[in-house]
Amino acid sequence: MNDLLLLILSSPSGAGKTTLSRRLLEDFDDFTFSVSHTTRAPRNGEVDGKDYHFVSPDAFQTLIEQHSFAEWAHVHGNVYGTSVSELDRAKAEGKSGILFDVDYQGARQIRATYPEAVGIFILPPSLDELKQRLTRRGSDDAGTISRRFDKAREEIEHYPFFDYLIVNDELEQALSEIKGIIHAERRRRSRMASRAEALLRT
Ligand code: ADP
Ligand code: 5GP
Repeated sequence: MNDLLLLILSSPSGAGKTTLSRRLLEDFDDFTFSVSHTTRAPRNGEVDGKDYHFVSPDAFQTLIEQHSFAEWAHVHGNVYGTSVSELDRAKAEGKSGILFDVDYQGARQIRATYPEAVGIFILPPSLDELKQRLTRRGSDDAGTISRRFDKAREEIEHYPFFDYLIVNDELEQALSEIKGIIHAERRRRSRMASRAEALLRT
């Protein structure tokens, strides 16, 4: 799709993709974050329209019927979706990349529509550390934490679908590895061919 780099970040809950996404967006101001819709309740500090569009199940259903979503899925007992208008917004704002924080089901659906999308799967250094991060985040009750943790193994099983695997052990290291991927993807021949062709025409 044009020159817009579609970057998907997925991981089991608590592996750090929200933290990594925020840091990436600070450093790549030509990237935008795809703000998903969700029926989940906002966590402390989350802002409607910035972190998510928080909507009721009825409103979400209406959006499905209006074909507003590029993809949507049930995740951890709630419904989440990426609206088509997020891609239009990125283009209208003249951005060169868009970051999707979606689960593996969302990643598959985005890839089905946009095969050029780049998929990165974030792994925790260990399952013990994953559990500690879910707990330390302090945003969910014990039941939610254990439901999310119990799903981790099932989510990790989907790693073969992704182009890149990053272990988020030391945050700065993981961040720098993702930045390396973005730089490399921007220099793919398919993205750079017009520059070579322009030289050949002179
Ligand atoms: P996700 O979006 O994948 O569910 P978060 O970004 O919310 O995960 O991170 C879960 C918790 O782990 C947060 O408290 C975050 O500050 C912490 N965290 C993220 N990355 C690291 C890291 N590399 N080392 C230690 N803690 C981390
Ligand atoms: P959280 O509730 O922790 O913000 O997100 C839970 C899970 O839902 C994460 O795996 C996150 O990537 C995923 N998610 C967030 N937005 C979307 C979306 O629009 N579509 C899909 N399929 N998953 C999403």
